[in-house]
Amino acid sequence: MNLKWDCIIIGGGLSGLVAANYVSKHFKNVLVIEKSHELGGRGRTNVKDDCYFNLGPHALYKKGIGLKTLRELKVDINGGSPPIKGKLIKNEKLYTMPFSFVNLPFSKMLNWKEKFDFIKLFLRITKVRSLPFKEENLESWVNTNIRYEIVRQIFYGITRLATYSNTPTLISAKHVLHQVHQSLGGTIYVDRGWQTIINQLKTSAVQSGVTIQNGVYVDKIQKRGPNFTVTLSDHTTFDTNYVITTASPNETMNLFDFNSNILSEIVNQIKPIKGASLDIALKKLPNPNIQFALSLDAPLYFSNHSFCASLSEKENAVVLHVFKYLSDGEESDSKKVKKELEDFLSYLQPNWQREVITSRFLPSLFVSYAMPTTKMEHLMKKLETDIPGLVIAGEWTNQDGMLADSAISSGKRAAELLINYGKE
Ligand SMILES: Cc1cc2nc3c(=O)[nH]c(=O)nc-3n(C[C@H](O)[C@H](O)[C@H](O)COP(=O)(O)OP(=O)(O)OC[C@H]3O[C@@H](n4cnc5c(N)ncnc54)[C@H](O)[C@@H]3O)c2cc1C
Repeated sequence: MNLKWDCIIIGGGLSGLVAANYVSKHFKNVLVIEKSHELGGRGRTNVKDDCYFNLGPHALYKKGIGLKTLRELKVDINGGSPPIKGKLIKNEKLYTMPFSFVNLPFSKMLNWKEKFDFIKLFLRITKVRSLPFKEENLESWVNTNIRYEIVRQIFYGITRLATYSNTPTLISAKHVLHQVHQSLGGTIYVDRGWQTIINQLKTSAVQSGVTIQNGVYVDKIQKRGPNFTVTLSDHTTFDTNYVITTASPNETMNLFDFNSNILSEIVNQIKPIKGASLDIALKKLPNPNIQFALSLDAPLYFSNHSFCASLSEKENAVVLHVFKYLSDGEESDSKKVKKELEDFLSYLQPNWQREVITSRFLPSLFVSYAMPTTKMEHLMKKLETDIPGLVIAGEWTNQDGMLADSAISSGKRAAELLINYGKE
């Protein structure tokens, strides 16, 4: 293998593979290093008993920069859009979601004043791009802009759905409102899971000449004048002109033998967004009247992703996700949370246990390594220019949207920065 590279990319998740596709348009020798044996990172899909499990519930935002970028890279996305309807649970009672102008007037959850408050809120969200924003957290924004408690609770349910965050006292209102606005444009559940995206990104990168090495991790990055030396866990060393890293903030900091003040500051301040997921494949759904539900009593989510995507090779099988949005610092008591998710599922889909094909429980998933707080935004902007020739990318940099949108757009942006840097 070549020992001198134009660019080394650390991480073979969405961000790293998107970066590889763009970087390879300009640089000849590009190497992606992924520590796992499989590519995909948090965007991977596991196949269990012929059923496709994403890592917890995954939906692509139709209006997001992620989908736009994937289309630019000619990635084919097949799947379906879940309708914005389903059930809300309040005081252990089921209500039809009042999210459409057809359902809202008939909602038994809200009285007329509350319905009016709800409409006002949605009109405000549709104008979010032109609204001036104070630097404030979500809770503060909600307290100022939503009058009735029940409307606040519904809105918190929507914000959890759109951002996976359950910490309104920390997350930036601006980021949340943009994310909610974007989610109103709808989402796509991808046929056979997000691995289909990863596989296409890998194929096109390899066709453009990118080398991919997996099953070995980057142990160290040293700065050598304007260039870098990258050492792998098997002690191989590579020289490279440029580096893009897409590892988590802590992992990234541990790789450097030099100091990045901005990254140190970020690592000291970050708060992750975490959740627990019960991923289940059933022979059939016991109660087909409920395909999607959000609880307002607890931060819980249920969705049958097979409702609009093909996620099993078995006829009639359904793949569904039950999810708990954890709040900041909440340690997931694995047994307790699993029971909570199972009980929630039993409430919606009685006797689901009789239909199980396969299942798994993931008690502590990092949906994001860095929740976009008001403080974080400024730091992330400075990160781009902190170390010339090295770009830090990945979902957690949150510069253009959140979650996969941020992962994908940060991969593209990292490539563009290096290409421009190379021209200087
Ligand atoms: C439960 C859950 C639900 C989600 N739902 C959604 C959703 O509905 N919509 C949405 O848009 N997004 C969603 N996301 C977020 C989305 O999956 C991520 O934003 C995206 O996959 C992150 O991509 P990434 O490349 O930035 O990071 P990662 O996927 O984490 O990739 C980083 C890669 O770097 C590798 N790595 C780390 N250190 C090293 C090293 N030293 N050497 C070599 N390799 C290394 C890791 O193994 C990993 O593969 C969800 C995430 C989770 C966990």
